[in-house]
Amino acid sequence: MAYVIAAPCIEVKDLSCVEVCPVDCIHPIDGAGEPMLYIDPEECIDCGACEPECPVEAIHAEEDLPEEWHPFIEVNARYFALKADPAAWAAYKKSKASLLRKAE
Ligand code: SF4
Ligand code: SF4
Repeated sequence: MAYVIAAPCIEVKDLSCVEVCPVDCIHPIDGAGEPMLYIDPEECIDCGACEPECPVEAIHAEEDLPEEWHPFIEVNARYFALKADPAAWAAYKKSKASLLRKAE
């Protein structure tokens, strides 16, 4: 179990969550190079501190995540699994382009 960042963060990335996370598991910490931020499911301690800080309600506990955003569980985890391999992460993001685009 972990907290998950979903679609509302896309292109907002105000970093409020990064400032309060006690274990620094929200990346990239400056938001650079990514459409959104991601929570490392292996490092998140489920403290819930980030959730109320988000101005667009992008952060939810995994079990409370609205169904339409369930694909973001995988996206958050894959960022950390693939970040040591930028080509693999870029290919994965390309495959999820429709998901990672800001809704109109
Ligand atoms: S729930 Fe706590 S540990 Fe997990 S990402 Fe949010 S602030 Fe960090
Ligand atoms: S507080 Fe919300 S909008 Fe801001 S970076 Fe974190 S998840 Fe994204």
